[in-house]
Amino acid sequence: MSEYVCRMPYCGEIVLRRGDVCEGCWTMRRVHLLELPDLYVRAYALLTPGSQAQALTTIHVSRPAAPVPFSLVIYDALEGAYATVLTWATYLCVETGMTLWVRSYVTGKGFAECVKLLREYDSCLANRSYVGDYVYDLYVAYRRLVTQTSSFATRRLSCACPSCDGGVVLSRNADEYAVCLTCGATWGHSQIPLLDRSTREVA
Ligand SMILES: [Zn+2]
Ligand SMILES: [Zn+2]
Repeated sequence: MSEYVCRMPYCGEIVLRRGDVCEGCWTMRRVHLLELPDLYVRAYALLTPGSQAQALTTIHVSRPAAPVPFSLVIYDALEGAYATVLTWATYLCVETGMTLWVRSYVTGKGFAECVKLLREYDSCLANRSYVGDYVYDLYVAYRRLVTQTSSFATRRLSCACPSCDGGVVLSRNADEYAVCLTCGATWGHSQIPLLDRSTREVA
């Protein structure tokens, strides 16, 4: 049987289908779905200088008509995240025969609705040939919002490197990946919580 590497960045786990994601990365999409609404709110609060955080369901993302200073990068990240969850919620509804009600003018409402649907029903996508695209798209949307709202400071994980048994392991770029300073082994985003957990169990 052929073997392939999980398609998620920095993840070296073996999968059986080309373009597929490993069990850990599939599970991690739940964390991304859980965090996306908060990230959307936080990124929106940074869109224009001086604005405040507001409830997700009252947010409407639109390009300002007047020359108001705003962040094009954050705007694109918000629009991209909305397009991602809308696209996949639409796929999900085609698969399950459900109806998608996101005709609201308020994008935050539509965003919340799509994320809710995916959180409740996306397990039926697990065996589809495009599941890797789904997990990857969610990850990209999540990363684009995280990089606008989070610190990029490198942090040291409390575990010793499981590969060389003792190296210092750093998490970089707001947990994009982890790397051992001694042997150079890397771990993908979805494996960082496991590294942290193994430490706690040993301690
Ligand atoms: Zn993986
Ligand atoms: Zn190491």
